[in-house]
Amino acid sequence: MHGDSAEGRKTRRLPSVDTVLRTPLGQSLSGRFGHAATVSAIRDAIAAARQGAVPHVSPDEAAADAQRLLEKASAPRLKPVFNLTGTILHTNLGRALLAEAAVAAATEAMRNAVALEFDVDKGQRGERDDLVRDLLCELTGAEAATVVNNNAAAVLLTLNTLAQGRGAIVSRGELIEIGGAFRMPEIMRRAGAKLVEVGTTNRTHKRDYAAAIDDETGLLLKVHTSNYRIEGFTAAVPARDLAELARENNVPLVDDLGSGTLIDLTRFGLPHEPTVAEAVAAGADLVTFSGDKLLGGPQAGFIVGRRALIERINANPMKRALRVDKIRLAAIEATLRLYRDPDRLTETVPTYRQLARHVGEIEASARYIAPQVADALGPDVTVDVVACSSQVGSGAMPVETLPSAALALTPKAGGGGALDRLAATLRALPRPVIGRIANGALLLDLRCLDAEDDFLANLAGLDRDGAA
Ligand SMILES: *Cc1c(COP(=O)(O)O)cnc(C)c1O
Repeated sequence: MHGDSAEGRKTRRLPSVDTVLRTPLGQSLSGRFGHAATVSAIRDAIAAARQGAVPHVSPDEAAADAQRLLEKASAPRLKPVFNLTGTILHTNLGRALLAEAAVAAATEAMRNAVALEFDVDKGQRGERDDLVRDLLCELTGAEAATVVNNNAAAVLLTLNTLAQGRGAIVSRGELIEIGGAFRMPEIMRRAGAKLVEVGTTNRTHKRDYAAAIDDETGLLLKVHTSNYRIEGFTAAVPARDLAELARENNVPLVDDLGSGTLIDLTRFGLPHEPTVAEAVAAGADLVTFSGDKLLGGPQAGFIVGRRALIERINANPMKRALRVDKIRLAAIEATLRLYRDPDRLTETVPTYRQLARHVGEIEASARYIAPQVADALGPDVTVDVVACSSQVGSGAMPVETLPSAALALTPKAGGGGALDRLAATLRALPRPVIGRIANGALLLDLRCLDAEDDFLANLAGLDRDGAA
């Protein structure tokens, strides 16, 4: 009909959606991904071909293009990566890896009805916190405990319950910001508490707190300076002294530990980090800490301390908005149970396995995989085994580092752009490899790599053209 007009020639070279759908591949895609999604992908494939310099695509080629589009769209966005950043608890990479016992417990809870708020012994309604309260109390020495979505929620709920419309007294040296969104002054405002700053950035004394206490005071707040340290001419009031002051004035002391560990880390040769039990023993009325930092569990926030205060917190209507679901409660319970046998934590809890991993073992791993990585990357990249430093991350031991070993990948030519391209190539692997750029090289810190063979198999997917 169109004769040999340019328009006619052009459209004849592009198949109709129906023709592509009727190819064997089109039929199988429709079975796999559904009719609607397949038609839409075929349409996109034909449209892309129309934009080409020579607008031409065969029905089979269009079906193959549609398959690529469909597979890409159905791949999970939240995909596993290799965390070779050297930061064990990397907030952007999901923090702690769960213990196998926690994974199993969470899976069971997902598949089944569970006694979440049901007392099986008595056959009546129960409390979801009951499931983990006894374990938390046993491990921290606290009278009572409750669980919420994360530690930010724990702090928010605690401030709102005890200090709404009242003053919350905190040292100027402890007005922390953790990753932009969590700033202590901001949280206080949102919780309805009035921020009462005392002392100076580097020195705050007991008398500063004492002078600020009045009839309007809702609580004293101590905040663990998780991600920085003030050094030099400094003074901070120990929790024990603050607790004494709080008791004398009949106001509660809240200690936000942040990471908060349940065990003394010096047993793994690591620097001392305040434990939750120590904070409770020092006399804090409430202590707040995270589930997915040093504790090595799922995202959660814990509030432990005096029973009367925990009861007030649980009666706050905000608690309902901040509560955790059955999946996480199952994982929390299973994780906490592992702490009953602290000697085996380096076997049972991945965070401790990674923390305690000896540099010699990491270096041996680096030497073992280096030649194979060099082979996979090709002649344009040199691969060296180098010493490096890992860090804990997520606001624990901000200045201490752990001796570790890395593969240093250096492009032989191309300057800084080549380094960025190499990093991008590794991120484009089926399982993205995330390292860090330092001193002109891409460092892959192997502290957190335990599946060497999976790592090497993944490199088989390297697109060397992309690396060039
Ligand atoms: C990390 C941290 C928080 C926030 O905890 P999330 O579990 O990330 O919500 C609050 N306070 C301190 C001191 C922290 O280190």
